[in-house]
Amino acid sequence: MTSEQEQAIVAVHVRGLDGMCAGCRAWWARLTPYPCWQVEWATSRQALADTARFLESAR
Ligand SMILES: [Zn+2]
Repeated sequence: MTSEQEQAIVAVHVRGLDGMCAGCRAWWARLTPYPCWQVEWATSRQALADTARFLESAR
């Protein structure tokens, strides 16, 4: 999984006007409260990647 794919997930899975995930509704016709698990997953992966980059640059 690359960070581009994670960014794509975050870009698609945005909060809709009713507080539901617009990406889940558009892709799978599912009503999922935002943030859905895919956003949680992608943002936690991004946080790990950012931490790794920070540790690399601090060395
Ligand atoms: Zn979603």
